[in-house]
Amino acid sequence: MLVTRRQDTVSKSQTMADRTATASRLEEVVSTADEFDQVVLQSLPMLLDRATGYTKRFLRETGQWKDDIEHEKFALRWGSEYLERFLVCGRSEIPCRPLFLFDSLVAKQHSKPDPFCYHPDLLRPLGRFVDGLAARAVISRDALIALYRHAYGWGPGEVIAMTGLNGLESQRIYKNFRRWRENGWQRTMDEMGLTKAEIAELGNQQQRHRHRFNSEAERLMRVAQAHYRKSEPDHYPCLSRSQWGEMFAEGYGCDYRIWHLALCLDCMQTAWGLGSNGSTIGEKPRLELQVRP
Ligand SMILES: [Zn+2]
Repeated sequence: MLVTRRQDTVSKSQTMADRTATASRLEEVVSTADEFDQVVLQSLPMLLDRATGYTKRFLRETGQWKDDIEHEKFALRWGSEYLERFLVCGRSEIPCRPLFLFDSLVAKQHSKPDPFCYHPDLLRPLGRFVDGLAARAVISRDALIALYRHAYGWGPGEVIAMTGLNGLESQRIYKNFRRWRENGWQRTMDEMGLTKAEIAELGNQQQRHRHRFNSEAERLMRVAQAHYRKSEPDHYPCLSRSQWGEMFAEGYGCDYRIWHLALCLDCMQTAWGLGSNGSTIGEKPRLELQVRP
């Protein structure tokens, strides 16, 4: 125990030293795109921390902060959103001092009238529904599992087969489904502020214009998923089919499978069939949005 603690202290001070070096490198002028990429890519974790910290401070100062997992994840998502924007637009500002450019980009975002508005389509009922489901999924396991139901119309058996879960985990999936049906769905609709009439209207659109409804839902789902996947930086990266295959075959990464596949249409296609030990399980899933639980 003592040894572990001492090692912790050593590695912590090592990390601090690395960070100081990284930060000072970022303060120097970079004059080519290659140089920019190199310096910035080496400092991604530190820049993510920085942007997340600024976002938390902004929320605190504007009275929008609460000490809970929901707000932590919100700040983290926006931190990585800013980091992505910086990676894209930073190169056009060369020569620059990356750290100062980064700080000013975040500050500029926070001084906008509605700093966190990210997609106008997500304000319409279908967008609010899709966005609300994904938002809830990153803080509630029931809602996370429910994404499989709402995106593909699956029941517990199909979720278990797709994600390749063992007995104990399978039991939890049944419970997740039950709780979602009993009250999770209704509570989430209430939190989103979707009225009975709006929910009924979504159901109508789904029946009358199935194709258009689903392709619109898929587009919005991609926007929402990309945003909310950032809530778990460790589970964020998309994997290749062989990486997924290894995970399934060796039986590790259970959380990764459940979490990422629920929030990534592309990896669902990539990993399709791996959970069922090679036996064919029908065609690849297509998004068929279900409004009801
Ligand atoms: Zn993915």
